[in-house]
Amino acid sequence: MSHVFPRHTAKAPPVCVGGEGCYLIDSAGKRYLDASGGAAVSCLGHGDRGVIDAVKAQLDRVAFAHTGFFTSEPAEALADLLIAHAPEGLDRVYLVSGGSEATEAAIKLARQYFVERGEPQRGRLIARQQSYHGNTIGALSAGGNEWRRRQFGPLLLDVSHIAPCYEYRLREDGENAEAYGRRAADALEEELLRVGPETVMAFMAEPVVGATAGAVPPAPGYFRRIREICDRYGILLILDEVMCGMGRTGTLFACEQDGVAPDILCIAKGLGAGYQPIGAMLCSGEIYGAIRDGSGFFQHGHTYLGHPAAAAAGHAVVKALIERDLVARSASQGAALRAALEARFGQHPHVGDIRGRGLFLGLELVADRASKAPFEPGERLAARLKAAAFEAGLICYPMSGTIDGRSGDHVLLAPPFIIADAEIAELVDKLEGALSVAL
Ligand code: PLP
Repeated sequence: MSHVFPRHTAKAPPVCVGGEGCYLIDSAGKRYLDASGGAAVSCLGHGDRGVIDAVKAQLDRVAFAHTGFFTSEPAEALADLLIAHAPEGLDRVYLVSGGSEATEAAIKLARQYFVERGEPQRGRLIARQQSYHGNTIGALSAGGNEWRRRQFGPLLLDVSHIAPCYEYRLREDGENAEAYGRRAADALEEELLRVGPETVMAFMAEPVVGATAGAVPPAPGYFRRIREICDRYGILLILDEVMCGMGRTGTLFACEQDGVAPDILCIAKGLGAGYQPIGAMLCSGEIYGAIRDGSGFFQHGHTYLGHPAAAAAGHAVVKALIERDLVARSASQGAALRAALEARFGQHPHVGDIRGRGLFLGLELVADRASKAPFEPGERLAARLKAAAFEAGLICYPMSGTIDGRSGDHVLLAPPFIIADAEIAELVDKLEGALSVAL
């Protein structure tokens, strides 16, 4: 009998014993095409020699040295490499162990920044409905997914949640994409004025919304307007690229495509590509300077901050993305996958929308294409699709999202950037088969 506390207690999962390229292999020898990448973790695929060797070499030198006393060569090298390619203004890298730690740190850094600046009245965070920022209490408070938050209500912080930027459902008839982008961004200003802008510290959002919405990109101009509003009211812009960053959308950072740079940027998942648990919070020189010239101490350290073996993995991953031109491959294979999805599902009666950027793509599943009516939650379509795909040897990431109290199902696809054309064809075939079983 297993003593592991599994995510889902109803059925023991198979034991994963191997990984090769885009495939995972279980103890019975069954191969699964990894089209979700864990989700959006495995950008290099499984068994990448360069990263494995870099981690081993670091373990041979030193596995761990506490950041209360030391920095390490890989942490320094990774921070330099990230800043060399980061959006303008970002200057410092705070290395953590995962995505929730990065967003939690970002929320606390925003607060401490204003305390250090002598503006302690700024303590409110504004985020969006239909978003996910992690599972720790602060990060969960920022997230807008009701299903994940429901039972923890009494523990959560008082965060404002504005409507998301979600063209498929929220753009009105006759409204063009730019006008919708402006209107959606203006919801931030309305909320600022409602709660009092002098009480707000930051706005947090995923540039391309992942787990809770299925790769929803912003409307054109949305983030530029958000940036303007943040600047006008002196609040920080925190972008959560834990899922959509590190080349996933076809540029190293998703926000590059929206022409904005945040004050704080969170990354994780693809940063370690699954070879080590690692995340990072990047912040501007201005924010770092306020701490350095103020208390001199960010009140947040975790034991495994800047772990040398994790930093070595992150450094090897970022080097591989750059030197092997894999970000461009995410863009080109993303275009190929999208074309294949459109060819196969473009007229499908239960696929309402095909969207995303790079190798970060989503399909929204609807009961009725014309009215966009979602499936009833009781039908558990996402769960049934996940099971049917897994049975067929395909790992994808179906989820239910909540918008205006209604639930919609989507499936997120985020395969490794090394995915070959034949594997794209296999992915689409298996997804079609699984969807017909689930429907
Ligand atoms: N932020 C986003 C956008 C995510 O998608 C996730 C995880 O899915 C997180 C934060 C939390 O990351 P982690 O699961 O590594 O704690």
